[in-house]
Amino acid sequence: MKVQLSRGDILKSIINAGVVGGGGAGFPTHIKYKGHAEIIIVNGAECEPLLRVDQQFMSLKTEEIIEGLKMAMSVTGATKGIIALKGKYKDAIKAFETILPREPSISMHIMGNYYPAGDEQTLVYEVTGKVVPEGGIPLAVGVIVSNVVTVYNVFRACNGKPVILRPLTVTGEVEKPLTLNVPVGTLIKDVLAFAGGVKIENPVIIRGGPMMGSITTDMDQPVTKTDSGLIVLPSTHYLVKNRRLDMKRILKHSMMCEQCSYCTMLCPRYMLGHNLQPHMIMRIVGYGLENASLEDLCQAFLCCQCGLCSLFSCPVDLQPREVYGGILKELKEKGISNPHKRKDLVPRPFMKLHRISAYGLVTRLEVSEYDVKAPWNDMEFTPSRVVIPLLQHIGCPSIPVVKTGDTVKRGQLIGVIPEGSNGASIHASISGRVVEVSSSVVIER
Ligand code: SF4
Ligand code: SF4
Repeated sequence: MKVQLSRGDILKSIINAGVVGGGGAGFPTHIKYKGHAEIIIVNGAECEPLLRVDQQFMSLKTEEIIEGLKMAMSVTGATKGIIALKGKYKDAIKAFETILPREPSISMHIMGNYYPAGDEQTLVYEVTGKVVPEGGIPLAVGVIVSNVVTVYNVFRACNGKPVILRPLTVTGEVEKPLTLNVPVGTLIKDVLAFAGGVKIENPVIIRGGPMMGSITTDMDQPVTKTDSGLIVLPSTHYLVKNRRLDMKRILKHSMMCEQCSYCTMLCPRYMLGHNLQPHMIMRIVGYGLENASLEDLCQAFLCCQCGLCSLFSCPVDLQPREVYGGILKELKEKGISNPHKRKDLVPRPFMKLHRISAYGLVTRLEVSEYDVKAPWNDMEFTPSRVVIPLLQHIGCPSIPVVKTGDTVKRGQLIGVIPEGSNGASIHASISGRVVEVSSSVVIER
């Protein structure tokens, strides 16, 4: 169904529906769309190996994504919409090709199969040729980037439908790898059971993609609006062991850095011209972080945590990403904010040659056996219990507007944005009775 709404109506609908960035960060979409942009890029790169959400979603929900993009363009004043996706997503490309001839302000940008094609700043450069300033956001060059799922949710929001489902891929050591819509708040164990169950003892779950996701063994954690995948791995897997390294060990081993510079030469942000040189921070760690200048430490603000240096580039398995992550945490705790403002950056001339093929990445991450289809499953999945966190986004937790014992309907508002704060509203993803209100709202059927 197509709707004609004013700018104010669209923003209000997005707020009411609780739309947040579906690409992982969970930034409230109504705040992002308050900016005035020239171009909206729909990020359909889905560059994390093993995930199959965006590529299938684009071929299944093509009309809705286009309509959502038009609403995003209308609200931000953008005159151009560009859907950026990889050439290997042939079904999605075909689906868009049937619609785009009647949408003169929207086009496709076909990308190669490299990582991290979906990194916002890499994507903006690839699609527009503009480099986002160091420490800046795409809006600094007139661009807003929105994930496929976000734009789809914008369409639904403008049709009065709140965000209560999260499409995600369930793969790895499960009986039936699949991709499906899951009610927000569904427990991980229930999603895994729907995928036929786990095949191994002592499984570890990566939430998100293998490069940037976090690990958990707690099957009672709920799926949130920002989850794009659950990847089940043995506890002995390379990725699990890597995630479990503690900072003390990481810093100690950093002294073994050979200064080969591969981490820097393959770093996507260095390639964009940013002053980020992971081999330098490793050398500094070798001499003792206490001797580092603030300027050196503040490189950490430029790292997008893509993980290439730690998981792919380093021949001796050192962890520049984690070093930057640790430094960044300390800087923030000390109240130091990003000092980087450099504009007019010139990408390194070898940028395209140094891109990392997603195929090579799959091999290096030792996930070839899990690189399977995970087909879309349309079956309605309604769990008997959901745990809906009040904080699933960047900003303040929602304020619950229900209490224990209340009966709620699917789609009903259960948490609102605190007055004068940034955040996102939340809604009941199943009908039932509220059995607990704490940092989450728990609903049982
Ligand atoms: S994680 Fe490593 S490769 Fe990625 S941006 Fe940071 S330093 Fe560069
Ligand atoms: S790739 Fe590894 S060994 Fe080479 S400079 Fe970077 S951290 Fe050091």
